[in-house]
Amino acid sequence: MSGLVSHRIQINDTTLRDGEQAPGVVFTLPEKLAIARELALAGVDEIEAGAPAMGEEEIEAIGAIAREIRGPRVTAWCRLSESDVDAALRAGVRHVNISAPMSRLQMRVKLKADPGEVAARATRVIGYAREKGLEVALGGEDSSRADLRDIALIAGAARKLGAFRFRFADTLGLLDPFATYEYIRQLREATDLPIEFHGHNDLGLATANTLAAIRAGASAASVTVLGLGERAGNAPLEEIAVALPRTADARSGIDLTRLERLAGLVAQAARESIPRAKPIVGADIFTHESGIHVAGLLSDVRTYQGIDPATLGRQHKVVIGKHSGLAAIKAVCGAAGLDIEGQVAAAVLARVKAIAKRTKSLVPEARVRQLAREESARREHFDKI
Ligand SMILES: [Zn+2]
Repeated sequence: MSGLVSHRIQINDTTLRDGEQAPGVVFTLPEKLAIARELALAGVDEIEAGAPAMGEEEIEAIGAIAREIRGPRVTAWCRLSESDVDAALRAGVRHVNISAPMSRLQMRVKLKADPGEVAARATRVIGYAREKGLEVALGGEDSSRADLRDIALIAGAARKLGAFRFRFADTLGLLDPFATYEYIRQLREATDLPIEFHGHNDLGLATANTLAAIRAGASAASVTVLGLGERAGNAPLEEIAVALPRTADARSGIDLTRLERLAGLVAQAARESIPRAKPIVGADIFTHESGIHVAGLLSDVRTYQGIDPATLGRQHKVVIGKHSGLAAIKAVCGAAGLDIEGQVAAAVLARVKAIAKRTKSLVPEARVRQLAREESARREHFDKI
């Protein structure tokens, strides 16, 4: 971790486009607007609001978001065709991401074209969008399986027409952080367009790859809330926002205290539950049971604190269970004015562990205090005899 963090990275959210592509996820218009509002409040730089080619309802939704949202750029995702650009114009956006296949395989299968033909088509379609007054980012689909010379050719054509960015999409989530770093480093030499990295999580490496891309000089991260997206999903916005200053000497404009609320809203709209141990936004990530960890935290919080929960607007929570130790038992009782020591505390702990093992669950604080009162009374009784 460096003390001097000044490198500002753009956070471009595509929850409403790639996120909604996750199987079975459908957002209603009010849900889309609520998510867009919350994304704006959280401080994202860009909201990719949808793919207008999907039809009238999508065009209306993108239009409603573009009309209402102030702050972040609202963009529409287009294929490499004039009709997609026309649909984006109908939605009323000023920015589009025009996606073109970068790998020879995708060029051949999707467009029956070679790199020269894709570059010519990009020139035609981007030129058309520019004539219509749109700001254009070139999206490089399947960039991780592309020849960098092909990317340079097509990105060069886009650059000449005034495109403002190139999106390097690891569409199939094939990369690891080392390969990502090398690709982006070389790409920076091949084009002077600002680079955005769009990572997929098929190998569980989307966050790591995004951070590696930023280390190598990418200036924007394409992310989704909770990593919601096609197949195994995308790089989670919340992980990137928190990890940037810690691992990549960079920062974003994200208000970290809004992440939990944002994640809750998206999970609800996606009809999904957030795993309790999900990094950054999981319910249990600041909840401690283990006796060793609780004793450390209670004497000096830095002992077992990697992320200060206060930076996320959250706090540590101690729970009592099979792995609890005396420090936690005493703290829970002490908080209710029940000071227990020595044999009483040890007896309470033994009973807590027995209950936790029998029920395979945590032991509520009220139950722990009840045990403390019982053991104190028993102790007093013995002392009198
Ligand atoms: Zn994607």
